Amino acid sequence: MNEHEKWVKKEKAMLKKAKEIYNKCNACFNPNIDLDSVGDGIYDLMCEECWEKFRKEEKKINEQLICKKIKLFGLGSEGKKSYYVFDKQLTFFAFLSAFLEKLHIEKPGSLYEYEDNSLNLEDVTDTFEQVANDKYEIDIFYGQKRIIVVIRSDQGRDSYLDLMKEFVEFKGF
Ligand SMILES: [Zn+2]
Repeated sequence: MNEHEKWVKKEKAMLKKAKEIYNKCNACFNPNIDLDSVGDGIYDLMCEECWEKFRKEEKKINEQLICKKIKLFGLGSEGKKSYYVFDKQLTFFAFLSAFLEKLHIEKPGSLYEYEDNSLNLEDVTDTFEQVANDKYEIDIFYGQKRIIVVIRSDQGRDSYLDLMKEFVEFKGF
């Protein structure tokens, strides 16, 4: 991705986020406004609170675009179960956020902390988190240097592997 493409991607991602935030805000809600045609005029419509939320999201979008991909050290699967061994970096949480959103799975506690900029990697050491919906069951083990993710699903890896590839650096892909 060259600089221009990056910029376009970022602008698009930010506009989408701005609309999402605006949509959820009771103070800003206005049935007379057509969000599809408002374009970047959305930024003028946002209230202070929306704006503050948006600033945080902007920071994350920047991280996702600028950050190097997370290293994936290994993966394997057996039957309905697949596992992935990631390098333990903050970028992992940017990936996890996008990943769970795509699969429509609720976030674990660590992700809320990451989004508030209060997550310390040391705090998620030798700990375990579990998230699931009706299609996927995901276990996340946080070690000292690695994060191991185990996904159990009938859906097959193809349902999420492309998304993983966007964030992950792995020679096997
Ligand atoms: Zn608002």
